[in-house]
Amino acid sequence: MFGPTIQGEGVLIGLPTVFVRTGGCDYRCPWCDSLHAVDSRYRDDWTPMTPQAVWEEVKRLSGGVPLTVSLSGGNPAIQPLGELIRLGHRDGYRFALETQGSVSKDWFADLDVLVLSPKPPSSGMATDWAQLANCLEAAGARPQTVLKIVVFDAADYAYARDVAARHPHLPVYLQPGNHMPPDRGEVDAGIDMDGIADRMRWLVETVTQDRWFTARVLPQLHVLLWGNRRGV
Ligand code: SF4
Repeated sequence: MFGPTIQGEGVLIGLPTVFVRTGGCDYRCPWCDSLHAVDSRYRDDWTPMTPQAVWEEVKRLSGGVPLTVSLSGGNPAIQPLGELIRLGHRDGYRFALETQGSVSKDWFADLDVLVLSPKPPSSGMATDWAQLANCLEAAGARPQTVLKIVVFDAADYAYARDVAARHPHLPVYLQPGNHMPPDRGEVDAGIDMDGIADRMRWLVETVTQDRWFTARVLPQLHVLLWGNRRGV
């Protein structure tokens, strides 16, 4: 858990937030930038906490002033977060969750923002379209639900187009991929800023030439500011 800082990407970009990063993920994307929350070899760094303990820490970090709490991972959908959301709502906090959409939970319906970030071909993962639809159904009408898709190349872009066509009512955020360096296990690993900028420019050109005028293209602000360091 860390913050307050700003949300660095997607629909809440720039908004002050406290991050709650949960351990464990059912995916293994080769370019994962949160391996310390995914790979069990980092398990010793993880802290088991009750919903009440997480909530107390959110309040301490935010000085008791309500803000948007970002639930991230790993895949936070595999954790029981309903009680935390209930505790926070009681005091006026809001909750945003980002997940790849492979696991749905009934407490999605209590979220304020749901970011579904299905993984493109470059991830090597296969999208379970039925599960993605289940996530939308579980969320229902309350959360503001959006799609956020990482794009490294043309195949990823075509995938993003496909996801958007399947769910035309959802706003789409496209984000240029961030290749982790070979020593990605290091928490202060460097960053391929030129590569990110090249992909960002290519993505802007591709979206505009393709006349996909409802898609938003955004970089990861925290990566531009702090690289791939974790906890900022
Ligand atoms: Fe990492 Fe997200 Fe892929 Fe899980 S789904 S391995 S957290 S990039």
